[in-house]
Amino acid sequence: MSIDPAAELPFFYGSISRSDAEQHLKLAGMADGLFLLRQCLRSLGGYVLSLAWTVEFHHYSIEKQLNGTYCIVGGKPHCGPAELCEFYSKDADGLVCALRKPCLRSPDMPIQLGVFDSLRENMLREYVKQTWNLEGEAMEQAIISQAPQLEKLIATTAHERMPWYHGKIARQEGERRLYSGAQPDGKFLVRDRDDSGTFALSMIYGKTVYHYQILQEKSGKFSMPEGTKFDTIWQLVEYLKMKPDGLVTVLVEACLNGKAGAKIPSLPATRRANGYTPPPRVVAAASNSAAERDLLPMDCTGFNAYHNPNDLKKFDIKRSQLLMDEVELGSGNFGCVKKGVLKTEAGQIDVAIKVLKNENEKLVKEEMMREAEIMHQLNNPFIVRMLGLCNAESLMLVMEMASAGPLNKYLSSNKDTVTAETIVNLMHQVSMGMKYLEEKNFVHRDLAARNVLLVTQQFAKISDFGLSKALGADDNYYKARTAGKWPLKWYAPECINFHKFSSKSDVWSFGVTMWEAFSYGGKPYKKMKGPEVTRLIESGSRMDCPVACPERMYTLMKECWTYKHEERPDFKKVEESMRLYHYSISNKAKPEGATATAEPVK
Ligand code: AMP
Repeated sequence: MSIDPAAELPFFYGSISRSDAEQHLKLAGMADGLFLLRQCLRSLGGYVLSLAWTVEFHHYSIEKQLNGTYCIVGGKPHCGPAELCEFYSKDADGLVCALRKPCLRSPDMPIQLGVFDSLRENMLREYVKQTWNLEGEAMEQAIISQAPQLEKLIATTAHERMPWYHGKIARQEGERRLYSGAQPDGKFLVRDRDDSGTFALSMIYGKTVYHYQILQEKSGKFSMPEGTKFDTIWQLVEYLKMKPDGLVTVLVEACLNGKAGAKIPSLPATRRANGYTPPPRVVAAASNSAAERDLLPMDCTGFNAYHNPNDLKKFDIKRSQLLMDEVELGSGNFGCVKKGVLKTEAGQIDVAIKVLKNENEKLVKEEMMREAEIMHQLNNPFIVRMLGLCNAESLMLVMEMASAGPLNKYLSSNKDTVTAETIVNLMHQVSMGMKYLEEKNFVHRDLAARNVLLVTQQFAKISDFGLSKALGADDNYYKARTAGKWPLKWYAPECINFHKFSSKSDVWSFGVTMWEAFSYGGKPYKKMKGPEVTRLIESGSRMDCPVACPERMYTLMKECWTYKHEERPDFKKVEESMRLYHYSISNKAKPEGATATAEPVK
């Protein structure tokens, strides 16, 4: 996984050397204006533009400025590498020529990861594991969904977890620690200088301790005096292990802070070994209080599975375990949904309870059992989990609670505070949940903004599996015998014309759900009736781009509305597009005071 802002550019090669870049240009024919982009091996976050002109190579450094913009030395600033390349393709503006033809990476050639990329990857994993006690699939999902936010968190706190970080100790104490035990050249530690929030690096060389101040720019970047600038102290330290950058020698060995045995910092006290997190609903992160920053999905109970994996088969909930509130959260086809609390050995969980309205109707009961059967097989942070069934005064389906309610309602009543960036984040999570369903061969058949529930403004879950089907191992679609009460405006042509439902028809519905989200809960196809919508689609027309919708998101929506399902992207592809866009806008420099939109709106 790479979250380089250039990752999606087909002419970006990652961390390749100058001679490799020249080789690629040569192989591609050396036409005038042929160009590629690569990662700068010297400065973090920078790039190099390699360009062919009159059978010669020209390499231009692109620096990442302190305010997050990118520019070729002496040139104009641009908010991302893509924008910069687009600019120079129209105007040479000081280069030997304008960029004319991208030298494309071949499809089987991955972007070359640089030394910091792999360090960053490991760091992300370690951080998520330690802070939220997540592992395996839950950890992967947390990282994929929140990588840009995690990177920012890590940039400010990662060093606190390093064995070489000694916190606030006096210079003399630093010396004492370095002199105790072996004293090899390059043994080092980092300490807080005083209460000013600045840091010092102390190291041994030739049995003498040297102290260096670590400089920090206003923007937060760290460096040695006149040295390379880094986003985090740990990256600076890693760099100084390779290059002295003004020090007497490179850093070799960490002087341990004594907490090495406790490499895993203390976990939130509320965490239990089986992965269940009892209330309070929001868990404070280990070192940086969740209260001080935006809540991430992983801060909420309900990100991780509630059940002990060995306990997965448990289906029945005793009535005595359930407290039911009078508060109704909503109502659906076969009854109402009430707020409640589930008492388990490990603690209490806030739950939503779907109560069957008419026990006597056999069909309705069977329907609810089918929904429970489906939900029971699913386990993903972005899908509402079923906790069990309770058969008492009525049949009750007990689910985890998503207290902020349906996405369409939430957005229409919070238009002023929800940014397009937040919507992208939420829709990316929905695409992750749908990708999981696709992989497990389930079709949802009712994906719509009303069926995306929010736990918080930053955490979405897909719900309502009333129409869902598990496909057979060899099937890629479900064929309905008769048409029912169907949400036609969300349905792909093949659903309406041939009653065929597949993950690809869910992709069509995802496009409509995106449209609803970027319209802040608007009603798709306004007041049109189902058959009118069908005619509109058959004629090749599609809904317009919502006002606040970024162009790229509208392009993806239209791809989801590709008429032929064979040509429509699958969720693997949709999730990837959502992810790349989500990462690119989260990494991008924002103009001062920018809030509502992530890129110029239509
Ligand atoms: P449904 O019958 O699944 O369409 O649910 C009807 C309504 O109940 C939804 O629109 C939500 O407002 C509410 N609801 C359903 N499930 C939950 C849940 N897990 N958490 C919170 N509210 C829910």
